[in-house]
Formats: sequence, structure tokens, C-alpha cells
Amino acid sequence: MSKQGSLSINSENIFPIIKKWLYSDHDIFYRELISNGCDAVTKLKKLSMMGEYDLPDGYKGKITVTTNANDKTITFEDNGLGMTEDEVDEYINQIAFSGATDFIAKYKDKTNDDQIIGHFGLGFYSAFMVAKEVHIDTLSYKKGAKPVHWECDGGTEFSMEDGDKETVGTKITLFLNDDCPEFANEYKSREVIEKYCSFMPTEIFLEKEPAEPVKKGEKKEPKPINETTPLWTKHPNECTEDDYKKFYRDVFHDYKEPLFWIHLNMDYPFNLKGILYFPKINMEYESIEGTIKLYNNQVFVADNIKEVIPEFLMLLKGVIDCPDIPLNVSRSALQNDGFVNKISDYITKKVADKLSGMCKTEKEEYEKYWDDIAPFVKYGCLKDEKFLTKMTDYILFKNLDGKYMTLPECLEVKPIDTDAVDENGNPVEAEVVEDNDSENEASEKKEKTIYYVTDENQQSQYINMFKKAKMDAVILKHNIDQPFITQLEAKNEGIKFKRIDADIEDALKTKTSKKVQEELDEKAGSLKELFKKALKVKEIDLSLEKLKDKKTASMITLSEESRRMQDMMKMYSMPGMDPNMFGGEGEKLILNINHPLVEYLLENKESEDASLFAEQLYDLAKIQQAPLKPEEMTKFIQRSNDILLRLSEK
Ligand code: ADP
Ligand code: MG
Repeated sequence: MSKQGSLSINSENIFPIIKKWLYSDHDIFYRELISNGCDAVTKLKKLSMMGEYDLPDGYKGKITVTTNANDKTITFEDNGLGMTEDEVDEYINQIAFSGATDFIAKYKDKTNDDQIIGHFGLGFYSAFMVAKEVHIDTLSYKKGAKPVHWECDGGTEFSMEDGDKETVGTKITLFLNDDCPEFANEYKSREVIEKYCSFMPTEIFLEKEPAEPVKKGEKKEPKPINETTPLWTKHPNECTEDDYKKFYRDVFHDYKEPLFWIHLNMDYPFNLKGILYFPKINMEYESIEGTIKLYNNQVFVADNIKEVIPEFLMLLKGVIDCPDIPLNVSRSALQNDGFVNKISDYITKKVADKLSGMCKTEKEEYEKYWDDIAPFVKYGCLKDEKFLTKMTDYILFKNLDGKYMTLPECLEVKPIDTDAVDENGNPVEAEVVEDNDSENEASEKKEKTIYYVTDENQQSQYINMFKKAKMDAVILKHNIDQPFITQLEAKNEGIKFKRIDADIEDALKTKTSKKVQEELDEKAGSLKELFKKALKVKEIDLSLEKLKDKKTASMITLSEESRRMQDMMKMYSMPGMDPNMFGGEGEKLILNINHPLVEYLLENKESEDASLFAEQLYDLAKIQQAPLKPEEMTKFIQRSNDILLRLSEK
């Protein structure tokens, strides 16, 4: 037998194109040739199961990769089903190339390397990315089959003749191009094989030629590079906690233990297996960045393919094996694939199910993990509406007592002011209210407000007042919380989030009649002039209130809208705009008429010291709400010293 011919392709210069387009992933030929070997072994086992072939006693499928750095060759030998002459003709000379021509036809206009993955479908011919010449020696399992030798030097010509292979299986030999001898280096090849083939289903051995001399008495038992039954292929019932942790360490080299994990295992409507780990995140020192490794029948495809894995899940670490993924297409084609979207939806749903299930049945555990997983969950809610819908009731909020509450629980808690106590722990008497217009107005609004704290130290004064009034607030101090609550508000009509210092709520004030309030407003008007002059500002929003907290003289509130606006400005630091330009906007100075100092000031507006009082009260209010600017701080300290000095002189 001897045959020569032209490979049936339309394009004459397919190899330069393969080389150019797949340039960035040069090393994938390892994966392609080894996975072909795996396929061949799997097929042979199947044939034996079907009674078409008797496997030799003690048969064990294996692939041996041999590197020879001197000759710059690599061989891939498997003991799979092999090929007859006709099959080489059909699968190598014709079929494989038709795959390649399809590929070219489809993507010839896309010159951008990044747009092209095309990893699969070129299979065997990817060898020509690195080899100037490729030989195939193969012997089919079929009765009476003759060994075949095929060779091709990277042009469009090949030759095929009788070979001398004596054992069933296939051996592929690559003669490397002069510009990439590194692939015949044993360390390099180990690295590449570990990257792509660590979990392939047939044992892979790496050998080196010339072999290293074996020392006397030393018997080396060769060890396969790969794990043929990775954890995700097993049934969750068969896997122990230690198995999961070990797998995590081995694959992700993360020595911090994962918080928990989800074992995905489904056969219908598509095949998907995998394990997703929630890593322990140390927010202060690390950026959150996960890795999701995608496999196709235990063959590694790539990390973090965003069409298959929802973006927010990329914060996790894990493996996904989906044999049904159509991979002989470019990434951009994957994106629009309805099937791929379904996979992505399924994974999202599973994650939401796991989290909500934990919240329902293992609340204590869930609370323990919450601080770690909160940024991830909130990010997911921001990125994926379906996830938000599923998770809304299972988001936890930590309240002022450190208790975790779900959103429905937060909404249930009614602000209580009927049995509020004063600073001495005595019940506060409500003043007789002559008319209650304002109350009716409030109850008509269906809005539920959740108060929140972003900085427990800075806002401690407000927290104390809230606690005394038996009101609650939740702690939201992460950067992601602002966009997150904005989104919760948008999606849940009637829910409003308000920072604890946005307003002085009715519950913090003693109830007053309309008449009393009018009197207060009038007095406030006269104080306004004093403060404007003292603080050297054109306008100031000032109000006199009867605060239950009798020990606080002055406070500042900043309306929720204005503060969010200011935060946004800071975040995007808009060019040419001073984030302080909105300084006074939405800000209100509250003076507590229940405090003797304020009373004193009202009575002594014209006195010499009135201005000093005004400045000091203003700074004291400011300090409870936000840090003073350096020059303000200097003035405040000087003024405080002056006041003490005067005291000492008395
Ligand atoms: P694919 O693996 O996607 O079918 P390839 O180009 O990798 O495409 O291989 C083309 C065909 O060549 C395979 O389907 C198989 O029939 C045959 N083949 C390749 N390598 C081997 C091998 N080591 N043993 C047996 N058959 C092989
Ligand atoms: Mg293949």
C-alpha cells in the first residue's frame, strides 16, 4: 500500500492561517492531541463493552507523551482504537480539513485575534502550529488491519504507506519548527499538560528521551500527570468535606479554606457538572477575583468564559464541566447562543437556591458567612435582576444590636415612640397635641423607611438618640451598599433607605402642638440672622426643635438626596467640579430648645458672646456628622481653648 495525494481543502495556505490565528494559544496542540488519544481509548472501551472487541487482560488505557529536546520532537502515543488506512483517509485527509475550511470561511473577515477562539474543530491540525512535519503511525483494533504510516510536511501534500506499528493504537510524532523548540522541553510540556489535561479521563504519562539513567536499586513507578476521576464527576453523596477542601487547595492553590460550596450535578435538560466554592475574602487586603474553570468532558477549555458563567459568579472559584457546550465557534458566537444563556441562568439559579436554602434552614451558618459573602451577593443583585428577585428576601441586614435581619424582618419592625425614655431612663411624657394633621399625613404614606448607618463611630451621636427612642437602624458600610440600596428602592416600591443623620425623625422629638411649633419657627427666624452673621454665610437652614435627648444642643442633618448626590460626585470626581460646591445644600442645623444653652442663646442674641456661641454650636453639630476640614478644625480647637480660658478667669 502506498498513497500520495493532495489534502482536500479549498484554501492553499491553510497552515499559515492556522498559525497566525491561533498564535496566542500555541500550546493547545497538546490538549488536542492528548484529547484525541483519550477519545480513542474511550471508544475502544465502548467497543469492548458492546462485545465488538476483546480487550487484552489487564488493559488500562493510557497516553504517553515523550519529549526529545535534542531532536526537537514530541510523540503522543495512545493504546486506543487506532485507525485503518480508510479511516486515516476519511478522518485526517478529508474530514479534519473540512472542519478547518469551514472555520476559515466563517471567520475570514475577522482579523482580530481576540475574536477567534476556534480552539476546537481544528483538532489534529493544530499540530501544525508548532510542527514543520507530522507523522502518524497507527494500527486499528479491527481484525486483519494493517499498520499505517502517514506523513505531512505542513504543505498541502501528504503521503500514506504501510507502517510498522505492532500494537493497537496511534502514535503521532511532531517535528518542531525551529522557532518553537521550547515545547520539547520536559518542564514546559509538563506545565502545558497540567494546564489543559489535569482531569482528562485517561492516564497520561510524561517521558523524556534520552531517558535519564536509573540508579541501581532504584525502581521508579511512573505516576500519571492527571486525575482521571476528578471530584466533580462523582456523586455529591460520595464526596466528603475533606475531599472538597483538598480539591479546592489543589486546583486553586488557595490555602484559606473555602466558606462553603455547591456541587452542581444535572443530566437534564443538559449535562452539567461542577463545583462552585465561595472563597474566604479578606476585603481589606485583596481584590475579589475568582476563577471559574470551564471543562468540556474533562478537557480544559478556558478560565472565566463570561458567556457561560454569569459575570458576578466570577468572584467565586470553581469548575464547570459541560460536554454540550458548542465550542467550535468563536466567543462572540457563544454569546448569542440561547443554549449558553440557559446554562448561565441555571448556574445563577443554583447559587440563589443554595443561599436562600441556607438562609431558611441553616440561618446561624448563613449569618456566620454573611459578612464574607455579602459583597458578592450584592454585586450579583446589581448585575442580574433574576438573582436580585430570588435573593431579595434573603439579604441580611445587621442592626444596631448586631442582630441579622432579612428585608421582610426589617420592614416589620415599627418605630416605637410611645414608651420612649429620656436620658435618665424615665418615660418621656408626650405633650398634649391639639391637632394631629401631621400624623394623619404620615400614616397615609405607604412608605417604609429603613434607617442605616455607614460609620458607627462618626454617627454615634445619632445612634445613641435612635437607641434611646427605641428605634433601629441597619449597618451598611461597604462601598457597594449605596448602589445596592438604590437598586432595592427602585425594585421595591415603598421601601426607602435613609441614613440615620438625614433627618430628625418625629420619634426623636417631643410631640408639640401646632401653636408651639409656630412659636418655635418664629424664634428660629431670629436665630437665623445671628448664625448667618457668625458663620459668614448667605443662607442657612435652621430649625428649633424639642429633642427628647436633652443633652444635645445642636445637630446637623443632611437630606438623603443631597448626600447621595454628593457621594456620587465624589465617586465619579467630575472634572472641574468641587465636590464641596454643594456644601450647604440639603444641610440643616437643628437647635434643641430643650437644651439650656440654646435657651440661653435665644435670650442673649444681642450679647457680645452670641457669635462665639453660634460658631461653637455649629462646629459641635458638624463634628457629629462629618469630619471637620483642617482649617475648620484649627479654628474649633482655638475657640475651645479660648472658652476654657474664660472659664478659668471667672
Ligand atoms: P475531532 O477530535 O474533533 O473529531 P480531530 O481533528 O481532533 O477532530 O480528529 C479528527 C478525527 O481523527 C477524529 O474524530 C478521529 O476519528 C481521528 N483521530 C484523531 N486522532 C486519533 C487517535 N489518536 N486515535 C484514533 N483516531 C484519531
Ligand atoms: Mg480532537
